[in-house]
Amino acid sequence: MEILDGKKVSNEIKQEIAVQVAKMREKGEKVPHLAAILVGSDGASLTYVGSKVRSCEKVGFESTLVKMPSTTSELELLNKIEELNKNEDIDGFIVQLPLPPQIDTQKVLLAVDPDKDVDGFHPMNFGKMALDMSTFIPATPFGILELLERYNVDTKGKHTVVIGRSHIVGRPMSILMGRKGWPGNSTVTLTHSHTKNITQIISQADIVISALGVPKFLKAEMIKDDAVIIDVGITRVADDSYEKGYYITGDVDFENVSKKASFITPVPGGVGPMTIAMLLKNTLLARDRHRNRK
Ligand code: NAP
Repeated sequence: MEILDGKKVSNEIKQEIAVQVAKMREKGEKVPHLAAILVGSDGASLTYVGSKVRSCEKVGFESTLVKMPSTTSELELLNKIEELNKNEDIDGFIVQLPLPPQIDTQKVLLAVDPDKDVDGFHPMNFGKMALDMSTFIPATPFGILELLERYNVDTKGKHTVVIGRSHIVGRPMSILMGRKGWPGNSTVTLTHSHTKNITQIISQADIVISALGVPKFLKAEMIKDDAVIIDVGITRVADDSYEKGYYITGDVDFENVSKKASFITPVPGGVGPMTIAMLLKNTLLARDRHRNRK
């Protein structure tokens, strides 16, 4: 069994990006600038945005954090997005999800300039991704592809089972694993909460990508020998014995599944850090797009 070490690979990617940014500075060129809009003060969202901003600083990007109160109206948020769309200095930005209930998420994602949509959530970018066109690939699926590539995991002709069909992970992941190319060329089954015989389907998988958010959902007896296991799940489980009052766990019973798998991602330290690294990569791409457009 080999660990797909997202922490290590993401550090390598950040190092590669930092070298490119240092060269830009040397030449007196503009460095990439990522902005993040955070509405409200949800604990997990604050943590995610905080680490995105810190990662920007680490690689030498400029970053801007726009904090808005949880009472922000849809119009106020749309106005802020328009401001960032027009701001020539900002190459890319993200709107941290989830948004408060008074705001229509789809409307917000549609308002982001597709050329600055480094999350890859705009329908234009999602459509381009589905058509194999060059675009921003959503950071979590992009990070999984990168991990598979860097560890030389064979995906061609394999049966990939994706658990969960969210717009940000499961759905794009199923498209990407089925596309022509590598990583890809898999035969994909996309499963969700209405899937019948899910245990039987998972037992036939060469590659399982689990993104449902149910701690220890995937058990050793459900997978076949030498399956490749990608655990996207991140759940905070309340536990007073931890300093923070909770611990983080994935969808996979790591201790037992790892004994049977050929490759496996840990949680934490697997897909999570890759997501941030790929957001930085998308920001670099956005910066190049803007330079070429000018
Ligand atoms: P989500 O929007 O929370 O949706 C969960 C998906 O799982 C839905 O499609 C749901 O089916 C399906 N599901 C729920 N229970 C199921 C069951 N018992 N059997 C089969 N399918 C089931 O998904 P998400 O936003 O992708 O998040 C999933 C997990 O990944 C969460 O733990 C989240 O924190 C984590 N995450 C991690 C990263 C990272 O960087 N590592 C990034 C994003 C998300 P229905 O569609 O039928 O409801």
